[in-house]
Amino acid sequence: MKDKFLRPSYIELDRKALLNNLVFLKKQGKKSLKYSSVIKGNAYGHGISTYLPMAEKCGMDHFSVFSADEAYAALENRKNASTDIMIMGMIRDEEVSWAIQNGVEFYVFEEERLEAAIESAKKEGKRAKIHLQIETGMHRTGFEEDNWGKTFKRVKNHSDCLELSGICTHYAGAESVANYYRIQNQDQKFKRALKVAKEIFDELPIIHASSSAAFLTYPEMHYDMVRIGIAQFGFWPSRETYMHILKQNQSYSIDPLIRVLNWKSEIMSTKWVDEGEFIGYGNVFLTSRKMRIATVPIGYTHGFGRNLTNTGYVLINGERARVVGIVNMNMLTVEITDMPDARKGDEVVIIGKQNGQEITVASFGEMSNNLNYEVLTRLPSGIPRNING
Ligand SMILES: *Cc1c(COP(=O)(O)O)cnc(C)c1O
Repeated sequence: MKDKFLRPSYIELDRKALLNNLVFLKKQGKKSLKYSSVIKGNAYGHGISTYLPMAEKCGMDHFSVFSADEAYAALENRKNASTDIMIMGMIRDEEVSWAIQNGVEFYVFEEERLEAAIESAKKEGKRAKIHLQIETGMHRTGFEEDNWGKTFKRVKNHSDCLELSGICTHYAGAESVANYYRIQNQDQKFKRALKVAKEIFDELPIIHASSSAAFLTYPEMHYDMVRIGIAQFGFWPSRETYMHILKQNQSYSIDPLIRVLNWKSEIMSTKWVDEGEFIGYGNVFLTSRKMRIATVPIGYTHGFGRNLTNTGYVLINGERARVVGIVNMNMLTVEITDMPDARKGDEVVIIGKQNGQEITVASFGEMSNNLNYEVLTRLPSGIPRNING
């Protein structure tokens, strides 16, 4: 059913920004490197159904999701039948048949899932496309060193029902130099697994290990494919990663990544308030002068946290307007006293750019970049997503 009414706000995805980011990222890897676009968490809040076809148009042909339901959404929304989908995490044994039928690739990181893959493939009469995940030090999922030889042999002996699409691992905390030795140890362990694999398989499948941070920091860990999440959307995994890239290439003094997501609304109403009045609930904001106020139909139900009461900003007519008073469930108030042109219906930017000004995702919570992941994925899926450009 098509929505009858417009929502109070919408998210706009900037196609040119995505193209820019992909060009930058592809410059950091060798020519033959494959890139998988990681779109778990509703494409980091960008909206899987809008983002995936846009990324396909920009040349991406491999997508990584966390779970079977996300793989389903990806399949439903891909425009190109040859676009590959890979599940990196949760898939129930009974969902394995569905994945095989639909040619969805999935991680195998334990004996039980390997058995499920073999059994289901036999039943379906179709090979399961699997990626063997190696435990190298993250200690979440993956085959332990003791089992590498045994597992590889079992996969090889079942090549009638298993198509080995990849061997992979995931590094713990590549976004921080503090984890340098841990990452190096993980990579050495991964290389040991690959050595074992080489002795067993005639030919190695696609090898992949790096997320955005490892990709941007450790070129020697690129292998055949990298799994890029946050960076494609225009965010650095951490400040350290950005500094690392800057040090390598001084010409990147302007941020080479551009944020793809812009979250916009509009002024719902304006009014004048006398000096000495409280605005909104409680007594958290007292007017120190006669003030002009605009209400914006965005609140904590939409992800604009109450912690931004009296401290957050939005953009109106290319200028910052500060939040005054408590952020409500569906509404917030901003001061527009010095914006005489501001009118009901004017565009309000909550995250993103307007006339050269930008409200960053980081300014939403603590000024910590790691929070980007969390703020983005918490953007409600009910906010409509559109493409610009
Ligand atoms: C989320 C994830 C990625 C992408 O991480 P980014 O830091 O967003 O690039 C890559 N690999 C795995 C296994 C993941 O879970």
